Amino acid sequence: RAKNDMSRAVCFYESNMDETARARRALAIDLRQAVERGELSLHYQVQTSVSTGAVCGYEALLRWTHPERGMIAPTDFIPIAEENGSILAIGEWVLRTACRQAASWDNDHKIAVNLSPVQFAHADLAKLVHHILVETGLSPNRLELELTESTIVADKFRTLHVLRQIKALGVTIAIDDFGTGYSSLDTLRSFPFDKIKLDRSFMADVERSPQAKAIIRAVLTLGRSLEIPVLAEGVETHVQLAILQVEGCNEAQGYFLGRPQPIDQILLAGVADSVPHDLILGERPRISVSG
Ligand code: C2E
Ligand code: MG
Ligand code: MG
Ligand code: MG
Repeated sequence: RAKNDMSRAVCFYESNMDETARARRALAIDLRQAVERGELSLHYQVQTSVSTGAVCGYEALLRWTHPERGMIAPTDFIPIAEENGSILAIGEWVLRTACRQAASWDNDHKIAVNLSPVQFAHADLAKLVHHILVETGLSPNRLELELTESTIVADKFRTLHVLRQIKALGVTIAIDDFGTGYSSLDTLRSFPFDKIKLDRSFMADVERSPQAKAIIRAVLTLGRSLEIPVLAEGVETHVQLAILQVEGCNEAQGYFLGRPQPIDQILLAGVADSVPHDLILGERPRISVSG
């Protein structure tokens, strides 16, 4: 009886596994065609100066609208795209689309684009970036590339080599989700980062955890000593933003300042009050399209 239950449990487990594996395989196949079918889009999330509220830039965040399943989150499909290599075509599409979009704005806001470790390993990334900048006419100093520590862990020397080539173009580099990966401090010493993006988990805890607050403070001190500006991710409340102002954080990003939105809504928000709070003293997010 016990044995019977057990084998039934195993059977159930295995068929579930099959189900998951099948779903994953199906998604992997669909992903290969997502670019050509025009199923990908970018949402943009504002990044602002903590002290003045001025808009510094926008981060491009990838969205996939699957014909049957609807919107699938990047955390659910990017690992699959990395596994089957379609991240190369997808990543190129993201870079080109974001640069083209930013080039049409009549301001000098930066555009931040996320890169996968696979793009560093398999593509001639610096050449691609150069090509796309020329093609779109975006000024290199308006492009910021975000990478996580997983990229560095994958191949430290290659990453360093590619980063130097990219920086030579005039493009800036941000370390994303800082504080959650491996060897954070060594990373800061060895790589030419222009910005530290402090992982949003610290922000989430800051109001009740003295430890989280102490870590934020320490990273800000580190940033000042190394002369690398710090952006706090995941700012969701007025109180969190006030803490960042007191602690002297440079930039902030999060739902409180603006959710990731499709480009037409970002352009519309240019005429509306999209950052309605009293801490922000400077100019409101404003994008308008030239020409
Ligand atoms: P990320 O680069 O750290 O992007 C920030 C993520 O935090 C985004 O999730 C954003 O929607 C979310 N977020 C922003 N503000 C808040 C907030 O106040 N509270 C909370 N709880 N979340 C906030 P999203 O868009 O789902 O992207 C998840 C991750 O997927 C990104 O993390 C990035 O690692 C990856 N990703 C997104 N687009 C691309 C892409 O084009 N290429 C690659 N390789 N990865 C991408
Ligand atoms: Mg990012
Ligand atoms: Mg991040
Ligand atoms: Mg993240």
